[in-house]
Amino acid sequence: MKGICILGATGSIGVSTLDVVARHPDLYKVVALTANGNIDALFEQCLAHRPEYAVVANPDNAQAFKDKIVGSPVAAMNVLSGAEALAFVATLDDVDAVMAAIVGAAGLLPTLAAAKAGKTVLLANKEALVMSGQIFMQAVAENGATLLPIDSEHNAIFQCMPAGYTAGNPAKQARRILLTASGGPFRQTPIADLDTVTPEQAVAHPKWDMGRKISVDSATMMNKGLELIEACLLFNMDPDAIQVVIHPQSIIHSMVDYVDGSVLAQMGNPDMRTPIAHAMAWPERFDSGVAPLNIFEVKHMDFEQPDLQRFPCLRLAYEAIKAGGIMPTVLNAANEIAVEAFLNEQVRFTDIARIIELSMAKFKADCADTLEHVLAADQQARDVANAVIAELKH
Ligand code: NAD
Ligand code: MG
Repeated sequence: MKGICILGATGSIGVSTLDVVARHPDLYKVVALTANGNIDALFEQCLAHRPEYAVVANPDNAQAFKDKIVGSPVAAMNVLSGAEALAFVATLDDVDAVMAAIVGAAGLLPTLAAAKAGKTVLLANKEALVMSGQIFMQAVAENGATLLPIDSEHNAIFQCMPAGYTAGNPAKQARRILLTASGGPFRQTPIADLDTVTPEQAVAHPKWDMGRKISVDSATMMNKGLELIEACLLFNMDPDAIQVVIHPQSIIHSMVDYVDGSVLAQMGNPDMRTPIAHAMAWPERFDSGVAPLNIFEVKHMDFEQPDLQRFPCLRLAYEAIKAGGIMPTVLNAANEIAVEAFLNEQVRFTDIARIIELSMAKFKADCADTLEHVLAADQQARDVANAVIAELKH
C-alpha cells in the first residue's frame, strides 16, 4: 500500500488522479490533498478519500474550509494553510508518491521538497521544472528520488525509452525525439483574426479538457515550448534533437527515433488518466478507466511542421533553452503574467508573445545555479512583464 499526496487536487489533473486512485484502493491511500481556492470541491474530495491532511494554500480560504468541516465526518482531519504547509505534506513519512499538479511557479517549492525527500515525484507541473531546470534534476539525482513524467508527451517518450531507463539520463541510441502537439484551437484560424480571439475561444481546446492556464498555453503553443524545455531536462537531450510535430488527432502522444531507424510511438485516447495510471503503477501497469482505443475510428493521422510565424511562443522557447541560464525561468514567468492578463481581458491574445519577447530582451542569460538566483529571476521577470503590460495599455 502506497501513500499519495496530491498537490493541486481540485484541478483537472488532481481530479483525474483521484479517479485513478479510487480504482485501486488496495494499492493507494490518500494521505494529503491540497487546493488553493476551491474549498467546496476539496471538501467533497476529503469526504470521499479521507486524507489525514488537507492544505488550503490561500490562508483566507483556509478559515472558511475549517468552518465547513465542523460537525462533518472529516472534522478531525488536520487542516493547514500557507505555502510551507504544501512542502510539509509533500514530505510526510507516510507519503511515498507526490502528484505535483499545482499550476505554475507556485508548485516549485513543494515539488522540490518532495524530490529532496527522495519521494516518487509524479510530475505534471511543467512550469516548476522549466523554471528550476538543473537544480530540480540535481535534487532528484542526489536524493534518490524517482521522477516520472505525467505530461502526456513526456510520459509517452518515457514509455518509448529503453528498458531500465530513468529520467535525467541520456537516452542511449535515441537520436531524436518527435514531440507531438495538437496545434490547439487556432491551428487554422487566419493569422489576422488572432488579434481578436477571446479567452473563451482560447480555452476551448479541441482534444483535451484542461485547466485555463494550460489551455491558453496550448492555443499559443507556449505549452509545446515549455514541453520542449521539459523534454531537454527530463531526457538529457539537445533542443536541436527535439522536433515538434503537429498531429491534430492527438492519438500518438510522442515518438522516439533510434539510430537503427526504428521510431517508437505511444498511442491512446487523449485522456490524462492513461499517463497518470502509467506513472502510478510503474514499473507495473494497472487499469486507468480509459476506454480502449478504437483504431478504426482513427481512420488517418496527419503530421505537420509547426509554423513559427503563427506560433511565436514556440520560437521564444527554443531561444530560451538555447540561451540557457535564467532564460527559461524568465520565459516561464513572463508567460504566466501575460496569460493571466489575457484571461483578465487586459491584453490581446497576440500580446502574449509580444510581452514575453519584450521581457526576455531585458535579461541576459546569467547562470541559474542556486534556487535563490532562480527565484530572484522569476520575480524580476514578473515585474518586467507587468511593466511591459502597463506600457502596452497606453
Ligand atoms: P488547474 O488549473 O485545473 O488546477 C490547478 C490546481 O493548482 C488546483 O488544484 C488549484 O487549487 C491549485 N493551485 C493554483 N494556484 C495555486 C497556488 N498559488 N498555490 C497552491 N495551489 C494552487 O490546472 P491543471 O490543468 O490541472 O494543470 C496542473 C499542472 O499540470 C499544470 O502545470 C499543467 O501545465 C500540467 N498539465 C496539465 C495537463 C491537463 O491535462 N490538465 C496536462 C499536462 C500537464
Ligand atoms: Mg502535454
